[in-house]
Amino acid sequence: MPQPTAFILHGGAGVLAERSYDREEAHMAELAETARASLSAGASALDVVCAAVRSLETSGLYVAGKGASPNQAGRYELDASVMDGPSRKAGAVATLEGFISPVDAARAVMEHTPHVLLAGAGAARFALEQGLKQVSDAPSYYTPAAAPDDRAIPTGTVGAVALDANGRLAAATSTGGTLNKVWGRVGDTPIIGSGTWADERAAVSCTGQGEYFMRANAAADVSARVRYHGQSLAHAVKGALDDVAHLGGEGGIIAVDASGAVSAQFNSPGMKRALVHPDGLIEVAVKQA
Ligand code: ASP
Repeated sequence: MPQPTAFILHGGAGVLAERSYDREEAHMAELAETARASLSAGASALDVVCAAVRSLETSGLYVAGKGASPNQAGRYELDASVMDGPSRKAGAVATLEGFISPVDAARAVMEHTPHVLLAGAGAARFALEQGLKQVSDAPSYYTPAAAPDDRAIPTGTVGAVALDANGRLAAATSTGGTLNKVWGRVGDTPIIGSGTWADERAAVSCTGQGEYFMRANAAADVSARVRYHGQSLAHAVKGALDDVAHLGGEGGIIAVDASGAVSAQFNSPGMKRALVHPDGLIEVAVKQA
């Protein structure tokens, strides 16, 4: 049997019952088709997740990249991370200001520094040195994607996980953070193990109330449950999400494992998502399955 491939992306936990998500659904379906084609053409899981997250960032449809919302000080501070399963190399940026694609900056940290996480002004200087594209007309570049939301910590993030034809797993996540966040606030998204994780067993990307995902170390917990408990991927994702819920948090988790199993679960009101199953079937959804 050929090595299976699989892919999932999310466009953030939390959807509004009265709003139409037709544009997001069409966009996510397109990205899923692109990912499926790239994976069957032999692209690496790392390239596929970064390309998907970059498209999610630049679309302006989700609370990440162009769709990010300002913090309480009116500044656009963005977080992103990426992790490569086979090497367990990882890169991340936190409170990055002024760049089109935070995930590209995260990948540059992984590939061109001995570090994992750069933050603030130093991250911006590094991104500039790397020649990454800047936002030239902030704040008008940003088109906050989030409609009014009355949850205690309204959220929105994008992420992707993939298994490629060589059996490699990778995950990437990018966010504008939670709405109305305090200046300098960093959530789970750029914290390896909390918002993003990939190793030889599973690739995981989280979305939701980051503070709870950090306290649960949710992304790494999925792989730990597989490793130490021998749980199935779906079981492990449910266990990690239950732990977040136990702390009072809400959100969602997407994950793929080395066998091609896929799982997308959430305890929030909906999660924008698209899955490419190992048989090639594409599933796009926003609300409860
Ligand atoms: N987890 C992100 C954060 O806390 C937000 C989100 O997923 O919507 O920054």
